[in-house]
Amino acid sequence: MDNKNYYENFNWDEAKLSDKLISKIEKIVSIIPNDVKTILDVGCGDGVISNALNGQFKVTATDRSFNSLKYVKTDKFQSSADRISAHDNSYDLVFSSEMIEHLPDEIFYNAMEEFRRVSSKYILLTFPNNENIEKNLVECPNCYKRFNKSYHLRSLDLKRIQTILSDCNLITHFTTGTKIRGYDKFLSLIKHKFTPPWSWIPRHWTPDGRRSTMCPECGYKFKIPYSFNPMAFACDSLNILASPKKPYQLCVLFEKK
Ligand SMILES: [Zn+2]
Repeated sequence: MDNKNYYENFNWDEAKLSDKLISKIEKIVSIIPNDVKTILDVGCGDGVISNALNGQFKVTATDRSFNSLKYVKTDKFQSSADRISAHDNSYDLVFSSEMIEHLPDEIFYNAMEEFRRVSSKYILLTFPNNENIEKNLVECPNCYKRFNKSYHLRSLDLKRIQTILSDCNLITHFTTGTKIRGYDKFLSLIKHKFTPPWSWIPRHWTPDGRRSTMCPECGYKFKIPYSFNPMAFACDSLNILASPKKPYQLCVLFEKK
């Protein structure tokens, strides 16, 4: 199963607004410049943010998955982030929330080009802030593919996104979301080299209800196992000292030059 089919078949559900999401949306609205009337939400998923922003702005939402779009109540069309079916400069602001960290390299760089092309003025992005994607590494028991359990493929922070959008000006940025502990790169290297995969993700990181996952390589569905391993436990304990908790997401607003 390739990545494309994975997101198409994902079990999309009706958008639900949690308190955390409401607070994030309020912060986002507070930094949207006054001259923004139209917004394109790229990779809108279930449309929870598009639906919330619509009315205050004229929002259009797009996603590569037809399945997800049925929950979107705004204007919408299907397209992939790296080939957006819209004319140059068609929206005042191009927005994308928690999507770009999922894109493989070739799609990611084309998508960033598309954001610049389709936006007439602003680009607003949110993504996990400087995440060590190895923290949530799982191994498929069927094909042994190792992957981030949320399918994150890249780690971004303010410096990296500024380099990628070097032809745009950073206007403002803020961090938001639950405070999450990162994972020290050296400790994750040791842990994944010397301890078994079933000891990698303790239950208190991901409670039972959220331990089901599907291998992006072979499509095998499984429950992420956990059994105690002294060395993995030692790495996790040392990591508490090495990695303080920080707000999970970074939101950045850029203006085209
Ligand atoms: Zn697999």
